[in-house]
Amino acid sequence: MQQDVIVVGAGQAGAACALDLAMAGLSVLLVDRRDFPRFKACAGGVTTKALHRYRFSIAPVIRQVESDMRISMYLRREALLKGPAPICAMTVRTELDALCFERALAAGARFEKIGPIRAIDESADGVAVTLDSGRVLRARYLVGADGAHSQVRKLTGGFVPDRTAVAMEGIVQLPAGVPLPPVTFDFGVVGQGYGWLFPKGDHVNVGIYTRRPEETEFSKDQLRDYVQRRLGVHGESIEHLVGFPIGTGGEKYQPASERVLLVGDAAGMAEALLGEGIHNAVLTGQMAANAIVLALASNGSARVLYDEYSDIVRGDIDNCRSLAKLFYKFLPISYGLLRHVVADTLMNGFAAGMTTTGCKRAFFTRQPRFDFTPPLSLLAREPLGRDPGRTGIA
Ligand SMILES: Cc1cc2nc3c(=O)[nH]c(=O)nc-3n(C[C@H](O)[C@H](O)[C@H](O)COP(=O)(O)OP(=O)(O)OC[C@H]3O[C@@H](n4cnc5c(N)ncnc54)[C@H](O)[C@@H]3O)c2cc1C
Repeated sequence: MQQDVIVVGAGQAGAACALDLAMAGLSVLLVDRRDFPRFKACAGGVTTKALHRYRFSIAPVIRQVESDMRISMYLRREALLKGPAPICAMTVRTELDALCFERALAAGARFEKIGPIRAIDESADGVAVTLDSGRVLRARYLVGADGAHSQVRKLTGGFVPDRTAVAMEGIVQLPAGVPLPPVTFDFGVVGQGYGWLFPKGDHVNVGIYTRRPEETEFSKDQLRDYVQRRLGVHGESIEHLVGFPIGTGGEKYQPASERVLLVGDAAGMAEALLGEGIHNAVLTGQMAANAIVLALASNGSARVLYDEYSDIVRGDIDNCRSLAKLFYKFLPISYGLLRHVVADTLMNGFAAGMTTTGCKRAFFTRQPRFDFTPPLSLLAREPLGRDPGRTGIA
């Protein structure tokens, strides 16, 4: 059976894309190599700008909402930056992804767990996805939302991200009575990156990030050492310690195919400054959906439309890449600027749901207008249940 669209990967980008396509009335087959709920290495920090993107409430999976951010450089010169409104919601990715997945299915997308993809063949009017089993799935469009190691990207050629960032995370349960730390970014504890603490109600998500793994030491022992120094607990107490690449470099992504669009980490859409990827995954998933819906309605080119829509995202991640290069290269100077000069604009901008580019513009124009309207996805608490008559499982 031919679908309108096959979306490969049911993470943040794929679920957002499938939801919008299904809501527009298209037939959507959402496929993943894993069943849901499934684990995904991610600290689950959902920034306010990302909260503004969801089409539904994610309140049921929010563990904590944070307005402040503690920062340091090499664990020294610490400061607590205060936000005027929430800057981030703390979630556990397994729960967040399960929720987004359920919403896509409730909207009408069908789900199928698939084995490895062997080949992708594009013709003038569609795409054929051949699985290792020999089975062929057909659709008018294919969206590659299969993360940093994207098989869709590898099989369709064209775009090769020039570098990939990496992060490693784990969980720490603090002894009873010990208060959870605030959201913390400790710059410089690893080369070209930072260590983090994200409080999640009953545990702390801990991790390290670097934008240039090929240039710096990056190991489990570094994370253990960081946690020991920062939290005063033995590094061996970190549970579920795991590392995974983050798809960056998408400022160079130009959709080359009429029928295959890449979104999220598959297209390198995470930003390199902090390694934040959820916002751009959701946004590019929605943009690709929009491009396909419009192309089908107008006989236009989804490639051209998606290229136009995603230009703003590429501009932002390009900006983040330049900032990251300067920030980590001259850390003592940039940390001083962050703490004493740009902190207010940044915290206001983050709380208003601005991108890094938006914050930069606000800083330089000196006439910023911050709108702290709370995102609906944070506030609304509508029931989660999906229509039992439409499970969507293929
Ligand atoms: C340790 C760590 C911490 C992070 N913390 C944050 C954070 O706090 N906030 C933030 O904004 N970003 C964070 N990020 C980045 C963020 O996780 C990613 O940018 C984001 O998950 C990208 O979403 P995605 O949907 O594009 O890809 P993914 O979330 O990786 O989803 C890809 C999906 O595709 C499936 N898949 C893969 N290959 C195939 C295949 N061949 N066939 C079928 N299915 C396939 C996978 O099973 C998966 O479900 C973190 C990343 C890491 C590694």
